[in-house]
Amino acid sequence: MGRPHPGVDRGVVIVGSGMAGAQTAMALRRRKYPGTVTLVGAEAELPYQRPPLSKEYLKGSLEDGGLLLRPAQFWAEHEIELVADVEAVRIDRMAQHITLSDGRKLPYAHLVLALGAENRSLPGVPVPRGVLGLRTIGDARALRARLQHGRELVIVGGGFIGMEVAAAARERGARVTIIEAMDRIMARVLSEEMSQYFSDRHREQGVQILTACEVARFSGDRHVTGVELADGSQLPADTVLIGIGVSPNTELADACGLEVAGGIVVGADLLTADRCISAIGDCALFPDPVSGASHRLESIQNATDQAQQVAKRLTGDGAGYDAVPWFWSNQYDLKLQIAGVAPSGGQSLVRGDPAQGSFSVCRFDGDRLAAIESVNRPADHIAARKLIGTEAARRLSRDQLADPTVPLRSLVLSPVA
Ligand code: ADP
Repeated sequence: MGRPHPGVDRGVVIVGSGMAGAQTAMALRRRKYPGTVTLVGAEAELPYQRPPLSKEYLKGSLEDGGLLLRPAQFWAEHEIELVADVEAVRIDRMAQHITLSDGRKLPYAHLVLALGAENRSLPGVPVPRGVLGLRTIGDARALRARLQHGRELVIVGGGFIGMEVAAAARERGARVTIIEAMDRIMARVLSEEMSQYFSDRHREQGVQILTACEVARFSGDRHVTGVELADGSQLPADTVLIGIGVSPNTELADACGLEVAGGIVVGADLLTADRCISAIGDCALFPDPVSGASHRLESIQNATDQAQQVAKRLTGDGAGYDAVPWFWSNQYDLKLQIAGVAPSGGQSLVRGDPAQGSFSVCRFDGDRLAAIESVNRPADHIAARKLIGTEAARRLSRDQLADPTVPLRSLVLSPVA
């Protein structure tokens, strides 16, 4: 059998055992990659799924075992070497090896950086020890233990994590207040219409949402007792969660001279300027095939699809990365699905009736349909994933889009000129 690339079958080292890293290892084995596959992760746990941590796991409808990506024996059976509970601290590009925090060196023929992101810390405010964040299973355990009836939970940040936790906490009977710096929740990703819809639903469920609002200080230490806002008002609290977004883990790449610009810079092939190093998932800044602009995405779809793409390339099948991004969020009984990425401030139209709890918001970048956000309209979402990124998306009839009786999939097949 010919080698796809000289030397590649000497071994792939993947740094980061989150979804992107673990899926790369799995895809390499599925595609019969012949060399060694080593997956290095800072966490002690076997690779697990993060999305349920702010949803089912918090509510108690899913336990630790249900989070595992694969059963424990899977990794050995597939000859994937897990190097857990240890960090990569240095990349030596000349020697083609990484150094681990325990001093070991791992040589690579190809290195995949799937380093993920870490929670941003609140700027300008001393944060007591008892304040929680949510990224790991350990974080979720600590938060879950505190979500009981009558608890007073304050969440700083009304993004996806904050609002999913708010929903789970209300379902468990805690009182919840959101402190959001912007003038609406989930503004980084959602249209104004969809933000408003979710605000209304959360308020109906008893969540207090404070927008354009900032924390001045916390009181308490291991046990937080309250939050003071910038306008001087006081909020009672016994549990505080900070969920103000993430920053990509790029230090390792930066320190070895790879280009970093708010993410590790890669081309459509997901390679850095060093052809022996790829970067994927939350840490990678890659060109959007539709707009051409570079962007970084924090989603399971992106992590999984980029993992597949790198595994394909390393096994001799090298197309560019052009998947349509999609995301989801579950809050109460609402299933929010998003296909595509829209610029903020673009035009939008509503399809269906929000009052019926089933509608979509179509968002535009100029004339191009850039994203569709759907609540309880799965058919719109499936069609959107086919439509966005095609030529048809540039010349759709807005009347047809706005008419909920016209199936979106009919526009995929026969766009109106
Ligand atoms: P995640 O997906 O981790 O929830 P997002 O970026 O979706 O991250 O959401 C983070 C939210 O936190 C955003 O709505 C952002 O406006 C808000 N935020 C950022 N900084 C602050 C702050 N200092 N105080 C309150 N909210 C903040």
